[in-house]
Amino acid sequence: MPAFNAILTAQLEQYARLGRLRTLESSISADSRQMMRDDKMLINFSSNDYLGLRFHPHVVEAGKNALGDAGSGSGASRLVTGEHRYYAALENKLAEARNQEAALIFGSGYLANLGVISAMVSKDDLVISDKLAHASIIDGVRLSGATLKRFSHNNVAHAMQLLETYRRKFRHCLLITESIFSMEGDVAPLDALSALASRYDAWFMVDDAHRFDFIAPTPGKADIWIGTLSKALGSYGGYVAGSKTLIDYLLSSARSMIFSTALPPASIASASAALLLAQSESQRVEKIKNHTRNLCASLRLPASQSAIIPIIIGDESQALAASQALQDLGIYVQAIRPPTVPPRTSRLRVTINAAHSDADIELLMDALAAYRR
Ligand SMILES: *Cc1c(COP(=O)(O)O)cnc(C)c1O
Repeated sequence: MPAFNAILTAQLEQYARLGRLRTLESSISADSRQMMRDDKMLINFSSNDYLGLRFHPHVVEAGKNALGDAGSGSGASRLVTGEHRYYAALENKLAEARNQEAALIFGSGYLANLGVISAMVSKDDLVISDKLAHASIIDGVRLSGATLKRFSHNNVAHAMQLLETYRRKFRHCLLITESIFSMEGDVAPLDALSALASRYDAWFMVDDAHRFDFIAPTPGKADIWIGTLSKALGSYGGYVAGSKTLIDYLLSSARSMIFSTALPPASIASASAALLLAQSESQRVEKIKNHTRNLCASLRLPASQSAIIPIIIGDESQALAASQALQDLGIYVQAIRPPTVPPRTSRLRVTINAAHSDADIELLMDALAAYRR
């Protein structure tokens, strides 16, 4: 037995006592609407492929074709021999979609945040970020060695106070927020934060991982946009978009990109096909907005500006029990617990998918009736 087993066992017991033990459950899906768990078919209200594109015939076909002509893996980092025409073609489309000069694909959204933040700031610098920013943002800042100060969620006055107090003590400053918060489903005051960044000579970075509307113009202004291919685009991978100079610099400095094998060409080809559909067909966006509006009205919650609707339960074990009760009704909604969310805010995190039918939403409304405000 390795010497650490006793220590790890004690830690696992601690997680279990706190209701924070995590386990893997197999989820088998044949479409974006449902999944099979424990031999039971459940309507899936917990996936992030909001547009329901990961099983779309064009998306699957594009991946199959790329597998056939470019193989299962890229074989090396893009800077070695892993570069394939699929990457640059998608980067051009992503840059255009965000109205930026250029884009750079990373292995995942997590790796994009890690690589970009640690390339942009270091120990003499300051990062000001929203308190609820994603773990990959926090990890990127830690890796960079920069000083991190966090403002209370979406609180522009607090962000300003931090800039006023700390900005002058540091060399560069990066102000970071998410556009749509992954566990809250609310949106950041991008215009106000961007104005603050200019006023205090800070660079403004926005993580837009949960965007599903690729038809409306990108909201707000930022110097650095982070996105993912893994959510609404239904594939895998992350990217950064910004100025050509930023992208040139990252290509020579972002270690999570340089020292990691390029994504499989098939993932890129599928993401490209999904982006094309996301930009050209508006019916999925309309459906998500419609479903979201109806569900929020039924729960007497303020209208969500995203496809994410959190139902705050509080206690970890109660959130798990609520999730289990929904499963018994044929509905899957993941319970989200600390440390993913702050203590005492365990929740059911509902995500709406364009593949859901009106009847699916009605079933969910009935099942959640007890949680009406
Ligand atoms: C999911 C997520 C990421 C990570 O993206 P992956 O492609 O899944 O690694 C980064 N930032 C935010 C806000 C996210 O929600």
